[in-house]
Amino acid sequence: MNQQFDELIFQVEHIVPKKHHGPTESGNLALACFACNNHKGTNLTGIDPEGGGVVRLFNPRRDNWEDHFEWEGALLLGRTPVGRATIDVLAINLDYRCALREALIEEGVFP
Ligand SMILES: [Zn+2]
Repeated sequence: MNQQFDELIFQVEHIVPKKHHGPTESGNLALACFACNNHKGTNLTGIDPEGGGVVRLFNPRRDNWEDHFEWEGALLLGRTPVGRATIDVLAINLDYRCALREALIEEGVFP
């Protein structure tokens, strides 16, 4: 993986992918970085690493971020099955991504 993925400008992604007939309208679109968007792909669900159940992914248009996630330094923690599954599917805590966030924390620009 290339560290520069997280430095690219955001992409407009379909929350419910076009493959699953998600419309191209504001209520179904969100900004996502290249890495998150590409790891999400056409997924609608993931498996909760703690509970093992299949759960839907976080919906940035409907869900409250703080209900599902919290930062522990450079590591993103899931507070709910939805949060944990989303972190897993989007590979948000891959080593290179945490290393980039640690560098940003040292610069005082993250979170
Ligand atoms: Zn991202």
